[in-house]
Amino acid sequence: MTAHETDKYVYDFAEGNKDLKDLLGGKGANLAEMTNLGLPVPPGFTITTGACQAYLATGREPDGLAGQIEAHLQALEREMGRRLGDPDDPLLVSVRSGARFSMPGMMETVLNVGLNDRSVVGLARQAGGSAGPTASGGNADPTASGGNDRFAWDSYRRLIQMFGKTVCEVPGEEFEHALDEAKRAKGTHDDLDLDADDLRGLVETYKKIFAEHTGREFPQEPREQLDLAIRAVFESWNAERAILYRRQERIPADLGTAVNVVAMVFGNLGPDSGTGVAFTRDPGSGAQGIYGDYLANAQGEDVVAGIRNTVPLQELEQLDKTSYDQLLDIMARLEGHYQDLCDIEFTIERGKLWMLQTRVGKRTAAAAFVIAGQLVDEGLIDLDEALHRVNGAQLAQLMFPRFQLDHDVPPVARGIGASPGAASGAVVFTSARAVELAAEGKAVILVRRETNPDDLNGMIAAQGILTSRGGKTSHAAVVARGMGKTCVSGADEIEVNVPAKRFTVGGRTVSEGDVVSIDGTTGKVYLGEVPVVPSEVVQYFEGSLDPAHVDNALVRAVHRIMTHADARRRLAVRTNADTGADAARARRFGAEGIGLCRTEHMFLGDRRELVERLILAATDTDRTDALAALLPLQRQDFVEIFCEMAGLPVTVRLIDPPLHEFLPPLEQLAVNVAVAQERGEDVAKEEALLAAVRRMHEENPMLGLRGVRLGLVIPGLFAMQVRAIAEAAVAVTRDGGAACPEIMVPLVGAVQELETVRAEAEKIIAEVVGDSGVEVLIGTMIEVPRAALTAGQIAEAAQFFSFGTNDLTQMGWGFSRDDVEGAFFWRYLELGIFGISPFESIDRDGVGRLIRIAAEEGRAARPGLKLGVCGEHGGDPDSVHFFHEVGLDYVSCSPFRVPVARLEAGRAAIETTGSDSR
Ligand code: PEP
Ligand code: MG
Repeated sequence: MTAHETDKYVYDFAEGNKDLKDLLGGKGANLAEMTNLGLPVPPGFTITTGACQAYLATGREPDGLAGQIEAHLQALEREMGRRLGDPDDPLLVSVRSGARFSMPGMMETVLNVGLNDRSVVGLARQAGGSAGPTASGGNADPTASGGNDRFAWDSYRRLIQMFGKTVCEVPGEEFEHALDEAKRAKGTHDDLDLDADDLRGLVETYKKIFAEHTGREFPQEPREQLDLAIRAVFESWNAERAILYRRQERIPADLGTAVNVVAMVFGNLGPDSGTGVAFTRDPGSGAQGIYGDYLANAQGEDVVAGIRNTVPLQELEQLDKTSYDQLLDIMARLEGHYQDLCDIEFTIERGKLWMLQTRVGKRTAAAAFVIAGQLVDEGLIDLDEALHRVNGAQLAQLMFPRFQLDHDVPPVARGIGASPGAASGAVVFTSARAVELAAEGKAVILVRRETNPDDLNGMIAAQGILTSRGGKTSHAAVVARGMGKTCVSGADEIEVNVPAKRFTVGGRTVSEGDVVSIDGTTGKVYLGEVPVVPSEVVQYFEGSLDPAHVDNALVRAVHRIMTHADARRRLAVRTNADTGADAARARRFGAEGIGLCRTEHMFLGDRRELVERLILAATDTDRTDALAALLPLQRQDFVEIFCEMAGLPVTVRLIDPPLHEFLPPLEQLAVNVAVAQERGEDVAKEEALLAAVRRMHEENPMLGLRGVRLGLVIPGLFAMQVRAIAEAAVAVTRDGGAACPEIMVPLVGAVQELETVRAEAEKIIAEVVGDSGVEVLIGTMIEVPRAALTAGQIAEAAQFFSFGTNDLTQMGWGFSRDDVEGAFFWRYLELGIFGISPFESIDRDGVGRLIRIAAEEGRAARPGLKLGVCGEHGGDPDSVHFFHEVGLDYVSCSPFRVPVARLEAGRAAIETTGSDSR
């Protein structure tokens, strides 16, 4: 006995079950399951993914595989009462791939294995009789058996074609040309007009093509055909298209495919035969009923090729009531058994129904929720299972308005779908114009090369944002996602000319006021209006659709599943919000506080000038004047937010502006000064400004004077903010509200930085708060790797940590947030260095490790230390699961992602082994 004889590589269908997908692939596991349910599955066996892995690792079949195939083949032959390739009554088999995850059309299939020059005659004879496939009589003259003689030769030419192309890499066009040639000679366009003689001639031509390209004759030995076909399926795992598909779908590269060897059944034996596909519910809407297509006298590949039009499955009832009733019965059983929507493929061979495949079917986002709700109603699954079966990406899709499905406007450009949804409106090129037109009640689309913080008002006013540069985490993308606003970024076919108020695309010019439509899911840009429908799910979250009173299956299902997610989740969900309006909306969406209020956003627009004065102040008086002017404005900002978030924690982050965003651009200022000097104007003030901007200019502003560093350098800045926060909290509380402020210090890398700020802050707080009962916490962001690595020390001075995963990713990888995505991430994604941008979904191994260390050491130093996250990752479904796992207390994300985070936090709580909703 060799060591390998103990490895089992081949399973009869009767030996497997649906839970063995890792071993038998999806198709094999489900064929086994149906076999064991007693459903009519053509007999066969599955060669395991393990055999494929071994083959791919060594370039040869593992020991013992050939013998196991032989044994299973013999059993199959006994069961069918036929031998593979028998000249009188041949058994034919199909050889089909089937991996753990469905990879539609990516890998190979070879049908009709077992046909050769002799068995084609036997097949014709067997198929010619009307007594069914096992009849042994029939006409000895193959040319005399009419349509079914034709069938045998057609099957043979299909084998040579598929085998040649798949197994021996003969160019597929060669066969297609020969087929076209045969039809031309016959004066027809239809394969069905070719008769047995034509097809016999075609087989000869095909064999010549085969020999020319491979240097050998088409193999006549059935077992050799089978072995080569199995090997080709193994190898198709590493075909280029399969590799690309896996990368895109994030399917691991080392799984390998299983191979199913199945007795052939034929749907093309005449009008009492046929083939079809069906769903047990509508995969589009989730509605109950039978959805499917049927094609009489055809094989599955004809349906895919669209050679003839299918008919709705219901018509099968007239054609073959027995098979139809049996099919409905089987579909009901499968649904009950899998407790989910199933899709199936079947064939009817001369009135006998065969099931060729089933699996839990793919569905739209809406159908996923509706079906999960229905199955709970039907008592098939419980609410935990319903929650497991939907996901945040689906919910996010349902929260955006969308274009009507059947519009026929062609796209003119395509960029990155940066923030989903659909928007139409008049083109504007400046923030000011967007605000102006929106005030007149017009829908506008803000078009820019790229946006910056000064475009904020325009972005708020616009229906959507279109940029010609930038990726998924460009300013436009991040801010738009935060606002739940549609955005297409990086549409580089578009040439934007802001001064001329127009853009050009594909030779066409679009001017201010012209209407465009953008689809933030697909990244497509259209000229003119495309009709839009609003999201009912948002109307529900906003409170304008009451699930108890609307007859809307989707809204009711979402309500039910969200309620359950809330009951299950351990993570709290807060929001990132800088205005009262955002806070109010987030609260309606279920936010349980604010996890990040970015105060630098409060210094844009009119107040920008005050900040500029502050930063550039030449004297103490200049500075204190600017601070005094800012204090009441800030206080009012906080009053508004505390009122909206009454009773809930509000984390206010002290100012963290990258300086370059607040100072006038150096080059522009230099040009202005030079021009003014040329004209002989008095430019003393501008010159002083220019000198100051030069002095403060930084090569790497993201790594420069920002965050706590700025607070320590500009006296009084943080103090003013702390005072504004404390005064606002006291004012709101005195008015009967309940303010729960948490002051957060940004960009801390050393505990001494935090201690310095904290000492000053505590003095001010004690002075302002007095006996008002207001309690103010002081904590820090953890967004510099050094902070994560010294979290034990920092926790001594911090009442809470909030992970700033945007900066932590930037500094952990050394990737400039502003530059790298557009510059080279496409190449990294292509090379598979990462499957998704680490700015979008948390890098568990690297940045995630920093978070783990900080959480552990922080809590060790200060038990009960409150931990949250407020970077973009707080609203990313996969990342939410990670934050659950590492034991954070809350995630904080933009208002529109709050429901997504609630749902995923609920899913994380019920799933111990991560999400598997592919
Ligand atoms: C972060 O760095 O993750 C963060 C939340 O701060 P900002 O994005 O404002 O730098
Ligand atoms: Mg940051």
